Amino acid sequence: MRKILGVVLILVPFIGMAQKLTKADKVLIQNVQNHIKYLASDELEGRRAGSVGEQKAVNYIVAQYQALGIQPMGTDGYIQAFPIDEGKRLTSGSFLNINGEALVYDKEFIPLSNSGSGKFNSNAAITLNESKQVWFKDLNEVLDAAVTNPHFDLNQWIIDFTKEVKAKGASALFLYNKGTFVDNIQFNKFDTAASLSIPVVYFTKNGWMKHFNDDIDTYKINANIEFEHATRTAHNVAAFIDNHATNTVVIGAHLDHLGYNEDHNALDINNTIRNGADDNASGTSAIIELAKLLKKKSPKNNNYLILHFSGEELGLFGSKYWLEHPTYKGNLNYMINLDMVGRYDTARKLTVGGYGTSTKWAEVLAKTPTSLLTHYDSAGAGPSDHASFYRKDMPVWIKLIMQGKQPSFNMYIILLKIQMLLVNLIF
Ligand SMILES: [Zn+2]
Repeated sequence: MRKILGVVLILVPFIGMAQKLTKADKVLIQNVQNHIKYLASDELEGRRAGSVGEQKAVNYIVAQYQALGIQPMGTDGYIQAFPIDEGKRLTSGSFLNINGEALVYDKEFIPLSNSGSGKFNSNAAITLNESKQVWFKDLNEVLDAAVTNPHFDLNQWIIDFTKEVKAKGASALFLYNKGTFVDNIQFNKFDTAASLSIPVVYFTKNGWMKHFNDDIDTYKINANIEFEHATRTAHNVAAFIDNHATNTVVIGAHLDHLGYNEDHNALDINNTIRNGADDNASGTSAIIELAKLLKKKSPKNNNYLILHFSGEELGLFGSKYWLEHPTYKGNLNYMINLDMVGRYDTARKLTVGGYGTSTKWAEVLAKTPTSLLTHYDSAGAGPSDHASFYRKDMPVWIKLIMQGKQPSFNMYIILLKIQMLLVNLIF
């Protein structure tokens, strides 16, 4: 373990005085409020990674660093673009017509996510299984027949059955469920299973009732089922305060939030914006203000790399990407991550995580007399961007989370002063 150097004690008196707001403190609080007000406004539509709202947040953050004269450290100025895999989806050229009527994807039909692709035309009856035509199967019958078999796997059954009907000449397979056995068929856009050799389409109950109301009719089917792999582009922001020091401290916060929650629940029809004031406009604003303080006056024993990550809500995508494609190659000493620092109450306390990732933290934090009640969590993993750094053996990291019920702007002063203390360290 390297030695902690620094000016820890010099800053301690400021923390003790934190409850008494100076003029500078009041300005800082006003700045934080302004940042959060914009970043969490409806105009930014919840800052979903790769969305127009995310781009507006990125532009806002970049403008802050430009105004502060803090140098860019991205790949394109302050910005580092990265792709987000959106999984498989039907191409816009895909369609399914029954007797000349176009069916609505998702509401009336879905292809299986491991369906084969291709165009097909058919004049098919449900009960006739003819070569070069579409074949049909009621999954309710299948599930009924398997009801005594606890190991029955419907997905595997469909794979085997598709092979069988293809061998007998079927050009496509249509699945439906006329009964009450639950089949749980869904389109899994991240399905990596091998594609079936013919298109396999599943009809919702509504789709089936509407378009296939007669078992002995012949249906004129005209379809094209094709998939594409979709990506969208998200953006990290990187800024750098260069003190010509050997070590660099990473200060991070994720800038993205859930948008309309479309990545987590496709059936979420509320269309409600998840504004994400606390998660994580609060942390974003805090590190902008922290950078401002460090730019004005910072200890010369560290450089400071300020990273605003996108794609955190999708699974730490931005921080993982940054670590795989670092835009700064110097010696990173430790990481401070701020995720949800907008609220504080004495019941939930201030959570300081990563406490166990270095023996030095206990020493440092014992010397940090703060009026905040603190909860220490020793784990280095966890559901935020610090986990990406911890996995890459970053010597230490720490995250600061406040999870009370009430927004508390005054706590920023204390929080930022704790951080000012932390960023002085060298491990
Ligand atoms: Zn968060």
